[in-house]
Amino acid sequence: MDRTSHIGEKPKLIDQFGRQITYLRLSVTDRCDLRCVYCMKARPDFLPKPDLLTLEELTVLCDAFIARGVTKIRLTGGEPLVRRDILTLIENLGARIGKPGLKELCLTTNATQLPKYAGRLAAAGIKRLNVSLDTLDPDVFSQLTRGGKVEQTLAGIAAAKAAGLHVKINAVTLKDRNDAHLPDLIRWAHDEGHDVSLIEVMPVGEIGADRSAQFVSLLDIRQQFESHWTLTDLPDDTGGPSRYVRIEETGGRLGFISPLTGNFCAGCNRVRMTCTGELFMCLGQNGSVDLKAAMRDGGPDAVDRALDRAMATKPLQHEFDVSPGAKSTVARDMARTGG
Ligand code: SAM
Ligand code: SF4
Repeated sequence: MDRTSHIGEKPKLIDQFGRQITYLRLSVTDRCDLRCVYCMKARPDFLPKPDLLTLEELTVLCDAFIARGVTKIRLTGGEPLVRRDILTLIENLGARIGKPGLKELCLTTNATQLPKYAGRLAAAGIKRLNVSLDTLDPDVFSQLTRGGKVEQTLAGIAAAKAAGLHVKINAVTLKDRNDAHLPDLIRWAHDEGHDVSLIEVMPVGEIGADRSAQFVSLLDIRQQFESHWTLTDLPDDTGGPSRYVRIEETGGRLGFISPLTGNFCAGCNRVRMTCTGELFMCLGQNGSVDLKAAMRDGGPDAVDRALDRAMATKPLQHEFDVSPGAKSTVARDMARTGG
């Protein structure tokens, strides 16, 4: 594989299995205004604020990734839009889109802050948002988010649509909690012109709940849908783990993200950085590289060396297990690593 296409250009990020890393997910905060039951404990232990990288430092590290061939950055969390002054980071990174290097900046959000931010996100160059919404039912939404209000999320989605942002709805499927509500959610989303992706719950984080009781296979969900909808497989390759179908009756696209029943690690193109500069090479493994120390103690060359170490140790795949009694392979919360 060609690691340097131009003289003077830095080597691309290519891992020990020959996979090129072009996608960075950046968790800008582990804090959130919701408390989803599959994501965090009711009283989470948040990272100490002094440990956080500043927005300027996050920009420097993003630039280091872009120089090594990262073309897509997704800001996530926690809830990215609750970090103070987050627009500064978004505008700084947005200004890099289209220059050689960064092609896309996007965001995953619970939408609660979108009435305030949607217009400014669009102005900063963001075109696409992933919005997490697991049900339209107000009571179920409140239970799953431990107190959230579905109207607030729906108002955020409406604001994003009005600002011209393309919205994809992400729903984690939970046994006996929201699985029966998924057809209503999908019909609504497709009526509104939004794609939907369903996600199998992953055993990430010690959240004080039995993962095997939460888990429902998307193979089973698909089979249930096929009893009342016609699903046509689509060849769409978004470079990600979603496998898409068109629902002929709604005309909309539905993605299945099946880390447990359909491992997609062979094509992995991503790494994840926390707001304290820990770089995790795999969502489902514990190995990390400390980019904060590299940047603060060693500067740009040390960051490049740390990225090379990360590539040499990126694991082949996750080892998630949701069988009864299985322990999470990863104790850190999803919000810390960035979902
Ligand atoms: N707060 C934002 C949101 O909810 O969209 C961004 C962060 S959240 C951690 C990112 C995504 O991770 C969300 O779509 C959420 O549903 C998903 N997620 C969280 N915990 C999960 C788990 N245990 N298994 C699968 N997906 C999970
Ligand atoms: Fe917050 Fe997103 Fe986690 Fe829900 S999934 S608790 S909205 S970070």
